[in-house]
Amino acid sequence: MFDYRSESMTLNDDQASRQPDHLSKDDSSSESQTPSRRVGLGTDRHRLEEGESLVLAGIRIPSPLKAVAHSDGDALLHALADAILGGCGESDIGTHFPDDDPRWKDVDSTILIEEVLLLAEKKGWVPVQIDTVVHLEKPRLKEYVPKMKMNLAQLLGISEDAIGLKAKTAEGLGPVGEGLAVDTFAIVQLERTGN
Ligand code: MG
Repeated sequence: MFDYRSESMTLNDDQASRQPDHLSKDDSSSESQTPSRRVGLGTDRHRLEEGESLVLAGIRIPSPLKAVAHSDGDALLHALADAILGGCGESDIGTHFPDDDPRWKDVDSTILIEEVLLLAEKKGWVPVQIDTVVHLEKPRLKEYVPKMKMNLAQLLGISEDAIGLKAKTAEGLGPVGEGLAVDTFAIVQLERTGN
């Protein structure tokens, strides 16, 4: 039978250096075992219908289609809000901002992000980096991406260098490809504030 205590299972220096900090053999205090970073993941989808503009990352983009939504329909900010909430161990955006609550009717989604950031801060977390994807067939977002990234950086209080934003089409396939929907994905890295 294999002896798990055998020397052959001992980590060499190179392997030990790749261990997460909170698993370090020499790091046994309870405080140091509390992770100082977390990640959160969020996605969103909105149906599209005839309109004049789409709002993504807080930027109004001229478009023959608009998002069907109770709020301003900013699917990218909604995915981001869910990512931050998830990283904090909180329930999702629909629980915090129900779509049958008149307070959130046509609300600017940057306000939802500000509320979520306050909640995260109260729990001792701040976002330090995000990566995001928008799947949208039309309009092409390339020319708006710099402005969207700048707005995300200002909203989150982090540098543009810490913001990823990919704008992709669905190559004509599925509801996104047929121009019926916009899909968004966001992942966030949170850092403990010490509060
Ligand atoms: Mg949404």
